[in-house]
Amino acid sequence: MKIETKAIHAGDRKSDPAKHGAFIPVTTPIYTAASYIYESTAQLDRVLGKEEEGYCYSRYDNPTNAALEELMASLEGGYGALACSSGMTAIHIALLAALTDRRKSIVAASALYGATTSLLCKVLEPLGIETHFANMCDLERLQQKIDDNKPGCVLMETISNPLLRVGDMDRIAEMTRASGAALVVDNTFATPLLVRPLEHGAQMVVHSVTKFLAGHGDVLGGIIVSDKEHHTVTRNLCRTIGPVLGPFESYLTMRGIKTFALRMERHCTNACRVASWLSSHPRVSKVHYLADPAHPDAAVIRRMLPDGLYGAIVTIELKDAGKEDMFRFMDRLKLIVRATSLGDVHSLVLYPVIASHRDVAPKARERQGIHDGLVRLCIGIEAVDDIIEDLEQALA
Ligand code: PLP
Repeated sequence: MKIETKAIHAGDRKSDPAKHGAFIPVTTPIYTAASYIYESTAQLDRVLGKEEEGYCYSRYDNPTNAALEELMASLEGGYGALACSSGMTAIHIALLAALTDRRKSIVAASALYGATTSLLCKVLEPLGIETHFANMCDLERLQQKIDDNKPGCVLMETISNPLLRVGDMDRIAEMTRASGAALVVDNTFATPLLVRPLEHGAQMVVHSVTKFLAGHGDVLGGIIVSDKEHHTVTRNLCRTIGPVLGPFESYLTMRGIKTFALRMERHCTNACRVASWLSSHPRVSKVHYLADPAHPDAAVIRRMLPDGLYGAIVTIELKDAGKEDMFRFMDRLKLIVRATSLGDVHSLVLYPVIASHRDVAPKARERQGIHDGLVRLCIGIEAVDDIIEDLEQALA
């Protein structure tokens, strides 16, 4: 089945008529029970001992979550998936699973979501897990970092934030595998419609489902999709640590995913139009967008992403603009929402200097190319003419 069909059908309608009566609900119900009753203690014993399929306790598994997990495993082409309470928990659990039985160090992309960098430097490093940062678009230097540090895990994002760089995942997966490490990819910005990292050689893929997958700005959640080896490890970690997604959030996420391919296509075509309009605006000095033929990673993008689907994020730099000019521009926007997220149906604007890169020292920020005049737009699925009109009046 194609991904658009899987998004609607995978995971749903799993009830067994023999157990649940002649009718099956067309969508997965929200199972709020914390635990389950069996006909006999002997049967509960078999279920707890994994000799018989069944649910025991919602920290271990839950039928609503199981449906979402089957859906996500199907979309990403993985062996199994695990629904977590947020994107950050998914990343945390995936890193712990990658490092089980491996060397306790990580090589990570230098351009990562801010909280992921904090997780590496403020949570894992004090526990003795060192991280060495590398530019995922400079493969020679990356190879050197891997050779020098012999990590247990390599961590990257499919599309970096906010400058939208795309590393060659096939080559990175090869280098990671050759060193005996596991590759973990955060695929939040791309979604499985654009890129499926397991097909490029990754062992685990993580998402903040809060973004494009759930898609409506009303749920916080995460997911890990893995190969067989790592799925078992993530499942066991979650059973013990307990960072599971609640069944209501699970239901909202599944409901969102049914339309995600349709929404994503519209996000992408709208973003293409907006990027092209902005590139000829006299107040805009630079537009970062994946469809740009002059993009520094254009060859990798052409190979890895489907034609015409270049994501929803458009990052722009305004000519000679400082912080005050940026505040003024953002305050003048009437339709585009000023908020710290992305992937919602509505268009969003975020100023990295005060949000995702707030904790990065100004000089380091400049070195990374995140200037005071840079702003990130996540283009929604509204009528594109309305989005452009809003930008036009705010830039005037
Ligand atoms: N990964 C990326 C690329 C993100 O942008 C975010 C949040 O913005 C996260 C992970 C964390 O997700 P959550 O906020 O659901 O924990």
